[in-house]
Amino acid sequence: MKVVADFEKCCAAGQCAVLAPDVFDQDEADGGVVVLDPEPPASLHDAVLQAVAACPGSALRVMR
Ligand code: SF4
Repeated sequence: MKVVADFEKCCAAGQCAVLAPDVFDQDEADGGVVVLDPEPPASLHDAVLQAVAACPGSALRVMR
């Protein structure tokens, strides 16, 4: 799985960092998404998919 974030669409809501904190963080300055682990291990895939579904800006995508 590869995780891609569209920074233009991110509205800094932070759900991704709450649901998958090992994969996503928020920029300290503007709250925008920071992808900590663009190729997360299988143990984190469920959390990543939850984050993708919860993102209000539809800013997250996964590729397999
Ligand atoms: S949940 Fe979506 S909009 Fe919110 S910080 Fe993460 S990528 Fe950005």
